[in-house]
Amino acid sequence: MSEVIAGSVLVVNAGSSSLKYQVLDPKTEEVIADGLAERIGEQAASIKHWYRGTEVRRELPLPDHEAAIALVVDLFAEEGVDIAESGLAAVGHRVVHGGRSFFEPTLITERVHSEIVRISSLAPLHNPANLTGIDAVTALLPDVPAVAVFDTAFFSRLPDESAHYALDAEVAAKYAIRRYGFHGTSHQYVSQSAAEFLGRKASDVNQIVLHLGNGASASAIRGGVPVDTTMGMTPLEGLVMGTRTGDIDAGIVFHLARVADMSIEDIDVLFNKKSGLKGLCGENDFRAILERVDAGDDEAAKAYLVYLHRLRRYIGAYMIQLGRVDTIVFTAGVGENAAPVRADSLAGLERYGVIIDPERNAVRSDEPRLISTDDSEVAVLVVPTNEELAIARAAVAVTN
Ligand code: ADP
Repeated sequence: MSEVIAGSVLVVNAGSSSLKYQVLDPKTEEVIADGLAERIGEQAASIKHWYRGTEVRRELPLPDHEAAIALVVDLFAEEGVDIAESGLAAVGHRVVHGGRSFFEPTLITERVHSEIVRISSLAPLHNPANLTGIDAVTALLPDVPAVAVFDTAFFSRLPDESAHYALDAEVAAKYAIRRYGFHGTSHQYVSQSAAEFLGRKASDVNQIVLHLGNGASASAIRGGVPVDTTMGMTPLEGLVMGTRTGDIDAGIVFHLARVADMSIEDIDVLFNKKSGLKGLCGENDFRAILERVDAGDDEAAKAYLVYLHRLRRYIGAYMIQLGRVDTIVFTAGVGENAAPVRADSLAGLERYGVIIDPERNAVRSDEPRLISTDDSEVAVLVVPTNEELAIARAAVAVTN
């Protein structure tokens, strides 16, 4: 048995053509290995595998997720680690949609597997990909307990008034149409970390969490319990995202179908892959967008303003819903790194008790930090998210 991995957790996030993984120790939080396989299913697939300070990059065909996992196992073997025999405590799989079936991290038994298959129609872009990851890992590591950690779980406690669409109730019930919310693992982890940072119990803190990555979502959390979130039945609703529209008039679907003769598939791709920041200015990398804004590029400026406008709309709505806001927390790639987004999204809110300190906001760090002034009534924080750690902890908690 390899001492280096014993007791740690393999965290797997399988996308339709990608596989992200990490091996980490949930107690010490040490990351032992980290990797990403991309373009699975294509001839020119690639993998980046990091193990204890050594990085390997390969380009090779990877026909499917099983081939990708087999390659990961080989890359560990090249380092002298037999991962199947290394004493992994668990495998934690990120599963996007738990529907109304899963509200907690769950050990993957045959019955659980069938239920994830059954609810896949709720997330046709995500759950089938997650399942290929589960199947591929189970085939190679059959003796390691596998746990599904659902992106919807944290929001399963959304109150009815937030969870229901104003849709014919019979149709909604028949087709399981409701607001589920996503990024729950991140919102839960970050809100707990924010409360810890403030030295308070999560149950005493009202917060607005802004998870701004390529996918983006906001949540209003009262005393540790979510009261609202921007993503809905699918991860398409809410904020402007890298390539997704966020909120959009559903009438546009009918219009495009009638006037542009677009199929449902075409519109799905348009809204999920070709819209958002990318649709507005041709680019979804926020760093590049900020550079273009600074250089006076009009398209990028428009995209930035649309993004901010939507974000401020939700911040305002959540302030009203919560009544008392103790903290506003920024996380994920944009939230953790883009100081102008933080400053601009909360500009002019002094009368609501929100005062950003420009010097604190400019600090770059991997640690949770305060970016508001000492006399700001609302503590504005940056708290790095760590979904892998949250999944690893959840997986171990279920298997113990
Ligand atoms: P996801 O997990 O949804 O793919 P991430 O949380 O990794 O996304 O966030 C990716 C986004 O973060 C990209 O738009 C990227 O440009 C942005 N980002 C990363 N670093 C910076 C930075 N220093 N400044 C501005 N944006 C950044």
